[in-house]
Amino acid sequence: MPRSYTRPLTAAAALFAFVAPAFAQEVNLYSSRHYESDDALYAKFTEETGITVNRIEAKADELIARLEAEGDNSPADVLITVDVGVMDRAESAGVLQPFDSATIEERIPERFQSPDNLWFGLAQRARIIFYAKDRVENPPQTYEELADPKWDDTICIRSSSNIYNQSLLASVIEVHGEDVAKDWAAGVLENMARAPQGGDTDQLRGLVSGECDVAVSNHYYYVRGYAGQVDGLTEGVDDLAWVWPNQDGRGTHVNLTTAALTANAPNEENAMKFLEFLVSDTAQQMFASGNHEYPAVEGLSGAETTERLGDFKADGTTPTAAFSRNAAKAQAIFNQVGWD
Ligand code: FE
Repeated sequence: MPRSYTRPLTAAAALFAFVAPAFAQEVNLYSSRHYESDDALYAKFTEETGITVNRIEAKADELIARLEAEGDNSPADVLITVDVGVMDRAESAGVLQPFDSATIEERIPERFQSPDNLWFGLAQRARIIFYAKDRVENPPQTYEELADPKWDDTICIRSSSNIYNQSLLASVIEVHGEDVAKDWAAGVLENMARAPQGGDTDQLRGLVSGECDVAVSNHYYYVRGYAGQVDGLTEGVDDLAWVWPNQDGRGTHVNLTTAALTANAPNEENAMKFLEFLVSDTAQQMFASGNHEYPAVEGLSGAETTERLGDFKADGTTPTAAFSRNAAKAQAIFNQVGWD
């Protein structure tokens, strides 16, 4: 089962990865994501450019700590994380540097780019509403409706400590202001079918088991449920349906898998070639399909499996950078209303 991160390479493997002849063309990637399709993608880059992609894979916070510890001696050139909020931590830690690329600027929608050219989005992950078809006739059509008392005791959603919900609330703060956002969080909490528990897959499992009628989850957890075997989900996946929230308004909240140039970047030129390669049509499609995500570049269709979900209008007005800017306010609101 693909995951957002993988075990770190063993020390020996890591050493081996970075002991290469001085003349070798390479780029050193620190990534919190690993899918088999990514391997094929990086091999394609090597084939086209002759530049080897060396990888260290670990959880994002471990990679950021490592970059901080390595400082000026860091061999890293590129950092990839699966959430803008996490990339913001890297930004605050000072382990990134601004890049200048007309290609990236042109290809990636502005709202998916850091205002300071410190990172950009590679793939979109939508946070959407799922529901049990046999129990819900008129599902909520917007995030705002999740706080409507008519959904009392029906909603499954994970804890507030998770970055996905922090970014969602941060976007609500950006759109409606803090007071309305606080009322919204209190309303959703009031409507929960159970105390927040587990990850996104567990919210979908709650629909299958009948514990809840409505659930909030990133879209790809659902796709995993029919693309492969996910216990507690796959057997009931056909009984679930989904809503792309806020289609008549600002659009659906999306987070991003992001890429950045690290502060030291001994192979900066190769790193920029690599980053620009990642925004090409082919790379975008391959990269997104690895986790059933949607490409960041507009006008490309998603992966085959994602096409089951169809196309949607992503929030085109709320800048992604607002998620990190409002992260602290979001956490404060969650704490105030008692959403664990
Ligand atoms: Fe995830």
